[in-house]
Amino acid sequence: LIDFPYNSILVLGLAKSGTAAAKLLANNGKRVIVNDLHAKDTDQAVQQLNKLGVQVVTGAHPTSLLDKVDVVVKNPGIPYENIIVSEAELRNIPVITEVELTSYLITNPIIGITGSNGKTTTTTLIHEMLLRSSKQAKIAGNIGKVATEVAEHLEEDETMVIELSSFQLMGIKTFKPKVAVFLNLFEAHLDYHKTLENYANAKANIFQNQDGDDFIVYNADDQRVVELVSQARSTKVPFSRNNVSIDGAWCDQDYVYFRKEKIIAQKDVALVGTHNLENILAAVCAAKLMGATNVGIAHVLSTFTGVKHRLQFVKNINGRLFYNDSKATNVLATSKALASFSQPTILLAGGLDRGNSFDELIPYLKHVKALVVFGQTAHKLEETASKAGIEIVESVDNVKQAAQTAYQLSSPKDVILLSPACASWDQYRTFEERGDMFVDAVHTLE
Ligand code: ADP
Repeated sequence: LIDFPYNSILVLGLAKSGTAAAKLLANNGKRVIVNDLHAKDTDQAVQQLNKLGVQVVTGAHPTSLLDKVDVVVKNPGIPYENIIVSEAELRNIPVITEVELTSYLITNPIIGITGSNGKTTTTTLIHEMLLRSSKQAKIAGNIGKVATEVAEHLEEDETMVIELSSFQLMGIKTFKPKVAVFLNLFEAHLDYHKTLENYANAKANIFQNQDGDDFIVYNADDQRVVELVSQARSTKVPFSRNNVSIDGAWCDQDYVYFRKEKIIAQKDVALVGTHNLENILAAVCAAKLMGATNVGIAHVLSTFTGVKHRLQFVKNINGRLFYNDSKATNVLATSKALASFSQPTILLAGGLDRGNSFDELIPYLKHVKALVVFGQTAHKLEETASKAGIEIVESVDNVKQAAQTAYQLSSPKDVILLSPACASWDQYRTFEERGDMFVDAVHTLE
């Protein structure tokens, strides 16, 4: 740790990032206490930390833990109403997240990606584009790799490409990406942030420490993003699907461009969906700013068929195109997926009933020739299908049967799309498990 100004640290929450932070700080000779409501003294992580001399307090949040502490490292998921966090704020003890610690570990260039949707896709694209251009880069953040662990093992010439949630960004003080990417801003996570303004301001933290030598890549088609970014001191690099004279990445019907350079023909882009075109334009900007080559970028764009479970192309079976969009756990995500296709489509949907209606899908169902439904919401989806005038509706038990039934109903050139519009927890542990079962079932069809 270089110039880390705190000596006595309370780590709040012992998930992956909390454990990593506590280990890092203890190994750097800091006094560390961990507090986690649900951890047990017998947990492996707790025992490992104890060996490093870290005291782990479980089962309660005693505010007295703050008495000898000069900073709190908070797990991003813990709300600011938590008794320890609100007490720390009263006592003027800074509250940071684990991502902030990377500022004290590395001086390597960082590309940080945030937005309400598209972060994982864009982060993956940028990482692949750099690698394909013979640039050294590692991926980190929300995408499954804890930032400080990646930072600790970064080589001198490596760039860190990090996906950042609004929760993580609320806890930064000095974190400064060389390139920040701001994709879009929708109403999301308002249970945590309370107001859209708070949520927007958390996201805007991504550029708060940048200066003129740094870049903010932003979506010029998203008015909320444009307004927020107007406050940035960094060099602004916009992308747009609509404005052909923009000084960044843009596109027309035929090509994707960066400034005046043609990057790739639209027909050669493997990802589907207008929303993915935005992710592509953002990724092109960031990759170009970090010196990626047009050949490397074009290679990735012509071969990358999507992050797993996110409108991911699975297989062509006798002319039927199967897509796995298991990550679509709400109506908005499924409407985006449906809008990505114009050919006849068989939609596979259903899952946990959160009490909402599915009628907002109706405008997007025009090209849907059949609906295969499953899970708690099967009946509600049948009602929506009937309002939309879809005649073929089949109810099945699970995604495996859904794949088989859809295949029986299909003709060559149809799209068969798993995009459930619901969370998976009524039948599956995670959306990943649901997607994997679907993909496995597709691979047994022939
Ligand atoms: P995140 O990491 O921000 O959750 P992902 O890349 O995992 O985003 O995509 C999740 C889902 O969000 C996709 O399946 C798609 O439905 C939707 N999505 C992706 N990119 C965008 C975008 N640029 N604009 C709107 N929706 C998007």
